Order: sequence, then C-alpha cells, then structure tokens
Amino acid sequence: LVSRDFHPRNTIVKVCDVPVGEGKRPVVVAGPCAVESEEQILKTARAVKKAGADMLRGGAFKPRTGPHTFQGLREEGLRLLALAREETGLPVVTEVMSPDTVGLVAEYADLMQVGARNMQNFELLKELGRIRKPVLLKRGMSATLEEFLAAAEYILAEGNPHVILCERGIRTFETATRNTLDLAVVPLIRELSHLPVMIDPSHATGKRSLVPPMAKAALIAGAHGILLEVHPEPDKAMSDGPQSLTFHGFESLMDEIRRLNTFL
Ligand code: PEP
Ligand code: MN
Repeated sequence: LVSRDFHPRNTIVKVCDVPVGEGKRPVVVAGPCAVESEEQILKTARAVKKAGADMLRGGAFKPRTGPHTFQGLREEGLRLLALAREETGLPVVTEVMSPDTVGLVAEYADLMQVGARNMQNFELLKELGRIRKPVLLKRGMSATLEEFLAAAEYILAEGNPHVILCERGIRTFETATRNTLDLAVVPLIRELSHLPVMIDPSHATGKRSLVPPMAKAALIAGAHGILLEVHPEPDKAMSDGPQSLTFHGFESLMDEIRRLNTFL
C-alpha cells in the first residue's frame, strides 16, 4: 500500500488546512522538544507563527532514555498545546507513545507523532491505523528503509492512508553528531513511495549550529517539510536544549528558506 507501484500519484496529507506533500512549498513544523509550561509553549507558538511556521510541535508524553528525567506534562501538556493552537491557529503535532493513549492524544493533536523508539510498536501502529487522524511516523534509529516502509504499511493496512514519513538520523559508528542524517532516503523514498517525507535535522544532528545547513540540504534533496526544535531559552530547556534553535536562529533560518524556495 505504501508503494508507488500501487499508487503512482503523490499522496497529499492534509493537517487541518496545511497540505503536506504537495511539493509547492515545504512545510515547517517548529516548537520545543517538550511542553514545559503555559508561558513556554505560548511564547514559542507566537514566535514561530510570526516567523512563518506552518505547525507547532511539542511533546507532552516524552520517551526519555532514563526514568529519572522529565517525562512530560502528559494530559496537561496536551491542554496547553490546544491553548496555543487556539491563540495562534497553528495545527499541533505531538507524540503518542502507547496504544491506550491514542484516544486521549487524538482529542488534542492534529498530527499524531510516532517517535523513533516506537517505530515498530506494532500495536500502536495498528491503533493509529484505525483512527482517521494524520500520522507522522519517525524512522527508528536502527531501522532500514525497508523496515521503515513496512512500519508505515501497518498504518495504511488498517485503513488510515494519512501518513507522513520522517527521517531523524540513524545510529552509526560516528559519535561527533547525535545521529547520522541519512539524507539519501529522501529521494529514495520519493522513488519508492507516494507518501510525503520530512526531515528532522534537530534530532539528526543534536547540535544547534548544524540544524540550518541540514534543514536547507533536506529541502534541496526534495523533502516536503522539516521538523525543528525551537525554545525560548535553549540553555534552560528540560530536554534537547543543545539542538534547539533560539527564536532569533529560527527567524534567520526561515528567511533563508524563503530565499531558497524561489529556486525549488
Ligand atoms: C522528538 O521529536 O522530540 C523525539 C523524541 O524524536 P525521536 O523520536 O526522533 O527521537
Ligand atoms: Mn526532542
């Protein structure tokens, strides 16, 4: 079902009124790694909206490596995202970690994110296949492209065709970057599949200074959009501060993207 052989035309996934995969203009999703407070998410939502973002991201349920770190505000985080959407009009993207919270997250989210760690949580994928909300499926950190597409197939097979694929870097021998951005999968996915593809240069690099060049490279490679972490005070972020852009950094990148768009 995910194959281009089966479906030659590009799929366009509509998230509220934002089309992803149309290929006219890349979609920019921006916001903090985690929703931390009302002030933090509202400030960020206003700033990214003003700079031209199409959607707001923010984790309420966080898949943290260890159990003693901030795990997210959970339902309260979802409520704060809805508040930010109400004020800015930006659709919201947030992660769902388990099949039993799909219903709850779907009450608030416009785009349901499956994180890298859950790419092969098959019960979660099947549950997301049974709802009609769009899904942002991130590539597992050691998943082959074939496994990535097979994971998407689970969602489509249950009846939900609204899937966006997201490359977020994979584990290699290299330790200088948090992950290794596998940029070649962008044109390869576009050859093999009709589904839209996005890049997350924040998790792919782990380093703020590398985010703008990799974001631009993603768009040149043909990505339909990018997912970026932005925080009002990255040094004080409860997760992923080192890879989060400041408001100023995000505005500069958006200016560069607008200039780049005239060539795409
Ligand atoms: C995230 O988007 O904050 C996240 C946890 O991403 P990933 O699942 O790609 O690590
Ligand atoms: Mn993060």
